[in-house]
Order: sequence, then C-alpha cells, then structure tokens
Amino acid sequence: MILIYPPVAKPCEPPAGIAKLCGALDYHGIGYRVLDANVEGLLSLLKAPPLSLDTWTHRASRHLSGHLASLKCWDAYQDNGRYRRAIKDLSRLLEMSARSSRVRLGLANYQHEEFSPTRSTDLVKGAENPEDNPFYPYFKKRLTELLANEQPSIIGLSLNYLSQALCAFAMIGFIRREWPGVKLVLGGGLVTSWMRRPHWQNPFNGLVDYLVAGPGEGPLLSLIGVNPVRNSSRCDSKPSGALNPVTKRWAIISNGVKAFKGCSERGFRNDYYRPNYESFPMRDYFAPGPILPYSSSSGCYWNRCSFCPE
Ligand code: SF4
Repeated sequence: MILIYPPVAKPCEPPAGIAKLCGALDYHGIGYRVLDANVEGLLSLLKAPPLSLDTWTHRASRHLSGHLASLKCWDAYQDNGRYRRAIKDLSRLLEMSARSSRVRLGLANYQHEEFSPTRSTDLVKGAENPEDNPFYPYFKKRLTELLANEQPSIIGLSLNYLSQALCAFAMIGFIRREWPGVKLVLGGGLVTSWMRRPHWQNPFNGLVDYLVAGPGEGPLLSLIGVNPVRNSSRCDSKPSGALNPVTKRWAIISNGVKAFKGCSERGFRNDYYRPNYESFPMRDYFAPGPILPYSSSSGCYWNRCSFCPE
C-alpha cells in the first residue's frame, strides 16, 4: 500500500491524517510506503532550471539553497527582512515554473486560470489530462519508480485543501491510466466535506474506487480485511446499511455519517492508534524543527455547519 499526500499544501509539516493512518497500519503490522508528493513536488519545481531568465527569477534561483537552509534553522525567523526575501524568492520560482501550465503556484496556493477545484467536471478533466499539470514531470517519474518497486494493490490519497484538488486528480488520472488494476482510495477533510453535503452523489465513478468520509483508519483496515479496533458495541449491532456489492462504494448515510461495510465511522476507535511520523521526510520540511501535527478530537456535537468536515 502507498499513501500519498498530493501538492499543494504548506510544506512545513507532515500531514496529520496520513500519520494517523501509518499508526493504524503499524499497529496491525501492515506494510506501507508514504509519499509526501507535496514537499517533494515543490522541491522538484524549485530546483528545476528556471524557465524565465528575468533578473528576479535568476537571482532567486541563485539564492535557493541559502533560502531553504535559512528556513530550516532559526536564522530567517529572527530577521523579518530575510524571512520575507526567502519566501518571496521561493514564491517567484514556483510562480514562474508553473506559468506555462496556466497555474498561479505558490507555497500553499494552486490556482488554475480556467479550472476550479470546486467543480467536479474540472477535476475529472484534470484527471484526463495529467500531462497539463506542472507537477507531471515529477510525479510521472516518482510514481513510476515507486510502483515498480512496491507493486501496491492499494493507493490512498489524502485530500484536505482546495489547493490540492486539481493536482490530486491529475495524479489519480495518471495512476488510473498506467496501473488500472490498483485500487484507489480517496479521503481527507475536503472529501469529507463533499460527502457530507445533503444529496451528494459521487461524480468520480471510474476514477476512484473508494471514497472515505471522516477518519480513514477503520475504512482502510476494513478494505484490506483487517478488523479495526472498535469503540464500543455500536458496530456489533445490526449495521445501519451495507456496502453496495456491485459498485463496492459508499452506500448508506445514517444520521449524516457514511457507512462502510456496515459500520458507522463513529464506531471505530480512532483514538486507539498513535500517529507515526517515521515515514515522512522530516528534514525536507520548511521549518526550523520538527512539527508533529495531531488531531486532539474528532466530530462535533453540533455537526450542522455545511462547510465543515467535522
Ligand atoms: S460548530 Fe464548528 S466544528 Fe461543529 S460543525 Fe460547526 S464549524 Fe464544524
């Protein structure tokens, strides 16, 4: 199994959701590989020869290694001018590297001139044309090598921010085209907020095999035939619904919560699993020290704000 964090999100820390999945997989002794395609992809674009030779871009390229080093120690954070210069130069390099793809790219920003991450038709178009994505040269090479070595049967992607959506679907389209037999699982906060909308219907049939709302530990373990640790007897009771045996996709909505193989996500004891950060490239993050994000709670008793994945 490979777990992927797609670009673009702030490259300062490992993703909390995948760290929790790693903890759950470790607990049950299941092997996996993590690909932080966000920080790797941004670094690949930053280090590529600049496509523009204007003075600013040329200077930013010359100072790249110094800027990255200053952001990984306390130097830049103690000098406001130095910090601003480093961020502006990195942003300039990213902006110029993606301009030919009609994308405004930044350290935590991805805006396409035409395609919107809020339109499912645009996401599907992104999946149909992965070559148009500015990260394509990076993920084509990286995924080809990784999948040749790992031969995974399942690939999971964690999609949390709108700035990741178009790139996530470009990667999904590439994987689906090159390795059609691999099961693709898509989860994360953004997917959760989509799926919890009233009357939501899956527009990604044929692209994604499984969509997961809420914490993914239980559904992922169920998918590979492992019984997750459960909270209480809730899941032992007669399930409120069933996985569609034909489509093998989410079938039931019970009290606003999607069911997976007959279990409410609230029945899984997600707090049982400790996050594991060992598989992440901790030295690559743009931070002066390790940042280990974690979620201290899940769900909300109110649970009525339509924009919120809780
Ligand atoms: S009250 Fe806060 S946490 Fe709860 S659903 Fe609304 S925004 Fe989300």
